Amino acid sequence: MLHEVTEFKKDLPVSASKSKYRKDVQQVIDQYNLKYVLAQFVDIHGAAKTKSVPISGLDAIEKKGVGFAGFAISGMGMQPHGPDFMVKGDLSTLIPVPWQPGYGRVVCEGYVNDQPHPYDPRYVLRKQVERLEEKGWTLNTGLEPEFSLFRRDENGKLKLVDDSDSLDKPCYDYKGLSRSRQFLENLTEALIPVGFDIYQIDHEDANGQFEINYTYSDAMNSADMFTFFRMAAGEIANDLGMICSFMPKPDPKRAGNGMHFHLSISSAESSNLFQDDTDPSGMGLSKLAYHFIAGLLAHGPALCAFCAPTVNSYKRLVVGRSLSGATWAPAFIAYGSNNRSAMVRIPYGRIELRLPDAGCNPYLVSAAIIAAGLDGIERQLTPPPACNENLYTLSLQDIAARGIETLPQSLKEAVQALQADPLFREKLGAEIVDEFIEQKSMEWVEYSRHVSDWEVQRYTEFF
Ligand code: GLU
Ligand code: MG
Repeated sequence: MLHEVTEFKKDLPVSASKSKYRKDVQQVIDQYNLKYVLAQFVDIHGAAKTKSVPISGLDAIEKKGVGFAGFAISGMGMQPHGPDFMVKGDLSTLIPVPWQPGYGRVVCEGYVNDQPHPYDPRYVLRKQVERLEEKGWTLNTGLEPEFSLFRRDENGKLKLVDDSDSLDKPCYDYKGLSRSRQFLENLTEALIPVGFDIYQIDHEDANGQFEINYTYSDAMNSADMFTFFRMAAGEIANDLGMICSFMPKPDPKRAGNGMHFHLSISSAESSNLFQDDTDPSGMGLSKLAYHFIAGLLAHGPALCAFCAPTVNSYKRLVVGRSLSGATWAPAFIAYGSNNRSAMVRIPYGRIELRLPDAGCNPYLVSAAIIAAGLDGIERQLTPPPACNENLYTLSLQDIAARGIETLPQSLKEAVQALQADPLFREKLGAEIVDEFIEQKSMEWVEYSRHVSDWEVQRYTEFF
């Protein structure tokens, strides 16, 4: 059953730093008649976790915190006999939950024994944001979520929601967009009133795949917003009997679900320190931007583990002939002017990192981007010349001759690259990086031991 989407005012507080809290908080409660608040944080995978708290407990969310058994949450590094995992919320992040009338959401961070918990991804991002703040900088990120719409048939098998969405080149197709408009409108109309400045919606390259674009903001707020985006998309789809999937590569023959990060740095003096119109390359990049890019490239293989964190992610980042033709997903550690076949595309005067997929943890990816970019800046690294060729059409020998490295081709390779690169352990913290490596190594082992349909088909009568 579809819930009626309540009309919300557009000027609600969405950023911790920008709102003047008490008055605004009361205003949101009154205006939307909130009866419950979701105290929400994320686990190591970036999945939203919550407790529902009656509105009378709002103060407790801020001051005392809400208790969880930390052992039950993926990646919190806790034991069943340890202290509680307490989450405390910043009430200025309170927004109504449009698909769940009477509910609000507050973004929380984890504490154990009253100390910030080093396994909490939002806390890990906060530490990186503070490193930028020391320099007077803000990293702005614009996230571009892609997702697929499915339903289950009577046998529980996944099907596209729209049976007629079967073109070979469905990108921007009118009929495809029109026939999924009920979901897209419900999602858009839920998100705009709570601060998403949505400016376009399109049918993407794969059948049943869509993208919604909204304006960038500071890295923390963007990660909070993307988490809310996935919560909204999942529940609004469910209300319509659909599944909204952020799986990186649902269909081997179709493009995957990327989530490109557009990056720029602002300061009190400049809205974009990455832009310099005198750049002789014509890409409009400042020296600072080149150092940042060099940092991203230098740490590309390890960064990949955070950006493409699942076994399935590596079916998107494919080198060589892809079953889905042009995937638009990067396979090589290079950057280029408007080059969609490279890991980093330069639209003009800003950086688009194309590596992340829609299944990533936005806090960990943002933290890793800051760590890698700042390393490039602090060590004054210079990137190699920009690559403006279609990398999909070059042979591996040609790629190697240009000194371009390949991204990891499996979760195992990415985890090994992360183990071999000391930067992230040093900057993001040994606790969370070791835990991530442990979890992802186990995911790889579990996957490797699974006997797939492909193997059964191929080998049962092969010999
Ligand atoms: N779906 C592609 C990816 O996996 C991106 C397509 C685009 O450039 O929008 O990254
Ligand atoms: Mg796209």
